Amino acid sequence: MSGVPEIFGSNVFNEQIMKARLPKETYKAMVKTIEDGLPLNIDVANVVAAAMKNWAVEKGATHFTHWFQPLTGITAEKHDSFISPTTDGGVIMDFSGKELVQGEPDASSFPSGGLRATFEARGYTAWDPTSYAFIKDGSLCIPTAFCSYCGEALDKKTPLLRSMEVISKQAVRILRLFGNTSDPLSVKTTVGPEQEYFLVPVELYNQRKDLIYTGRTLFGSKPPKGQELEDHYFGAIKPKVSAFMKELDEELWRLGVLAKTKHNEVAPAQHELAPIFTTTNIATDHNQLTMEMMQKVAKRHGLVCLLHEKPFAGVNGSGKHNNWSISTNTGVNLLEPGDTPAKNAQFLLFLAAVIKAVDKHQDLLRISVATAGNDHRLGANEAPPAVVSMFIGDELNAIVESIASGDKYESNEKVQMEIGVDVLPKFPKDSTDRNRTSPFAFTGNKFEFRMLGSANSIACANIMLNTAVADVLNDFANELEQASDFKTALNALIKTTIIEHKRIIFNGNGYDDEWIKEAEIRGLLNLKSTPEAMATFLDQKNKDLFTKFGIMSIAEMQSRFEILVDNYSKIINIEALTMIDMTRKDILPAITASIKELSDTASSVKSVSPDLELSYEVSTIIKLAKLQDCIASKVDVLESEVLEVKEICNVFDQSCAYRDRIFIAMQNLRACVDQAETICATKYWPFPTYGELLFGVK
Ligand code: ADP
Ligand code: MG
Repeated sequence: MSGVPEIFGSNVFNEQIMKARLPKETYKAMVKTIEDGLPLNIDVANVVAAAMKNWAVEKGATHFTHWFQPLTGITAEKHDSFISPTTDGGVIMDFSGKELVQGEPDASSFPSGGLRATFEARGYTAWDPTSYAFIKDGSLCIPTAFCSYCGEALDKKTPLLRSMEVISKQAVRILRLFGNTSDPLSVKTTVGPEQEYFLVPVELYNQRKDLIYTGRTLFGSKPPKGQELEDHYFGAIKPKVSAFMKELDEELWRLGVLAKTKHNEVAPAQHELAPIFTTTNIATDHNQLTMEMMQKVAKRHGLVCLLHEKPFAGVNGSGKHNNWSISTNTGVNLLEPGDTPAKNAQFLLFLAAVIKAVDKHQDLLRISVATAGNDHRLGANEAPPAVVSMFIGDELNAIVESIASGDKYESNEKVQMEIGVDVLPKFPKDSTDRNRTSPFAFTGNKFEFRMLGSANSIACANIMLNTAVADVLNDFANELEQASDFKTALNALIKTTIIEHKRIIFNGNGYDDEWIKEAEIRGLLNLKSTPEAMATFLDQKNKDLFTKFGIMSIAEMQSRFEILVDNYSKIINIEALTMIDMTRKDILPAITASIKELSDTASSVKSVSPDLELSYEVSTIIKLAKLQDCIASKVDVLESEVLEVKEICNVFDQSCAYRDRIFIAMQNLRACVDQAETICATKYWPFPTYGELLFGVK
C-alpha cells in the first residue's frame, strides 16, 4: 500500500479531479450544482460525462452503472459497457451527458408497494451530483435517485434529499432572525454512523442453512462462555481479523470513505467501524458501500461478515449509532454550545427544536428503525428500549430545568440564566457522553441516535430526523418572524417549548424496568414491535407532516407502509421455513442417529454383561427421545401456523399474526432443539455450534 493520502479517494471523481479535468466554466457549474443544488444543463452534463468516462477508462473501468437505493434497503446496480460500435467494425468508449443524467433500468422487480403497476414497469434513475461518482469493480458508479415515471420516489435517497432541502430552508429562516447575513446561506445535516458487525469463518457459515438463508442463527444453545467477562470489548485484535480490517480500510479509503475507528465490540466475534462524519446523503451512500465492502473483503479472508441485528441469542446484537448534527455552509455546527450570549441563545433554540421534534415525532423515529431483525434488540437490555427518550446530560439538564422553572441555575455558584444575555456556563464535553442506554443522547455537539439496527440503511432515520426538526423550526420561525420584540419572544418560546416537551428527557438508566413504567406515566410511546410501530405511520399527524413539506406524498407513504410491513412478514416466513427444513432434514435425523448408537451400544453391552445398569445410555435415550417427540410436535405446530397465516389477506393483520403466532411457535421449537443440542453427542449435531462459531471450539 502506498501512502494513505495518495490512495484516499483514488477511485472517486471528486472535486479535486473535477478541478483538474473539467474546463473552468464546467467546473464552476458543477460546484454550484453540488453546493446549491442547481440543475445542470445538458451541454455541461456532456462535458462532465466525457471527463468522467476518460478518467474511469484510464483507471481500467469498462462499464458504468446508475447506483441507487431501492426500498429493499440495499443498493442496486445494472452495468452497461462504454462501448459504441464504429463503422469499421471496432468500438470506441463512449458516455453521453444523457446517460449520466438519466437512466431507465427495467426495474420492475423492485418493491414499489403498489406505486407502479408492472405494465408501467420502467422507473427512471436521476443523477445525484451531490454525491461523487466512483469506480467499483471495473464500473463507474453514478449515485442516483430512483423514481417512477410520475415522479414518485421508489427509493430512499429521494426523500432524504428532499428532507435535507427542507431542514436547510427552515434553519436558514431561524439563522436570519439571529442576524446571520451570510450569502449564500444554507445548512446541511451531518452524520457519522458507527457500524457494528460479526465475523465468522466461512467454512462454518456454509454449514448453517439459517445463517445462509436468514443471516442469523435460528437454533443454538449457549456455550459455557458468552460475553460475561467483557474480555472482547476493545481487546487486542486477532491477526486474521486485523488483516481483514486493514484491507477493508484500504478499500474504503480508495472510495473516499473516511474510515477512522476500528475495534472489537462487546460480544465475541463482534467488531465496529466508525467513519468521520460527513454530509448526510454522502454518509448514507458511504454506509451502504461500507456494508457492501465488509461483506466482500471478509470473503477474501475466509470469513463471512454478518450484518444482522441479532445473529446469536444470548450475546449482544449489532446496532448502528447515527451521530447527527446540523452545520451551516460557513462551517458553524448549530448544536455546539457557543461562547457568546447570542450564540448560546441560538444553540438553546436549536436544542429546544430537537427536544420538541423528538417528543412530537417519537413514533417516526421508532418507525425509522423498525425491522424484524432490530425487534430482537430494542428493549432487550443490550440496546436502547423501544421507548424513545432523550439524554442531555446533567449540566445541560440543569440549565434546561432552570429555564423551564425560572429558578436560578446552580453550577459552582447560583446564576440566573437569561437567554441571550448570559453566557452558558462551560460544561465539560465528556460529562454528556456517559449514558449508553439512551436512545437519543446529546454528546457535546451532536446527537447520537442509537436505535438503528446494524443492517438498516441510515436513510430512513435521517429522513425522519431532518423532517421532524424542520417541522419544529418552521413553527419557531413562523412565531418569531411575527414577534415585535425578538428577544422576549425567543425567551418565551424556548421556555414554553421546554416546559411542554421535557417529558422526553430522561437522564437515567434506559435498561431499567422502572423507566418503562415511568415512561408510560409520562405518556411516551412504547411501540414494542415493528407492526405496532408501523400502525402509527399513516396517522393524520404524519400524513400532514410529510405532505406539508413535500417529503413524501400520501401514495409514497402508503407504498412504504406496505413494503415495510410485508417485508417484516416475509422475513419471519423465511425464518420459519428454514427452521422447518433444518428440523425435519437435519435435526430430527441427527437425534435418531444418536439414539440408535446409544441403543446399539446398550444392547451390545447388555449381551456381554446383562446385569449392567447402563444408566447413561438409558437416561440419554429417554431424554433424547422425549425431546424428539417435543420437537416433532412443535415443528408440526409451526408448519400448520405458517400455512394458516399465509392465507391472511390484509398485509397488516398478517404481520401481526407473524409476530403473535409464528414467532412464538418458532421460539417454542427452538427451546426443545437447543435442549437436545446440550445432550446430543457433538459428532451427531448437524451444524457448527455457538462454541465453534464464536470461539472456534470444536
Ligand atoms: P463513541 O463510540 O464514543 O460514540 P465514536 O468516535 O466511535 O464515538 O463515534 C463518534 C461519531 O460521531 C464519529 O463517526 C464522528 O465522526 C461523529 N461525529 C462527530 N462530530 C459530528 C457532527 N458534528 N455531526 C455528525 N457526526 C459527528
Ligand atoms: Mg457511539
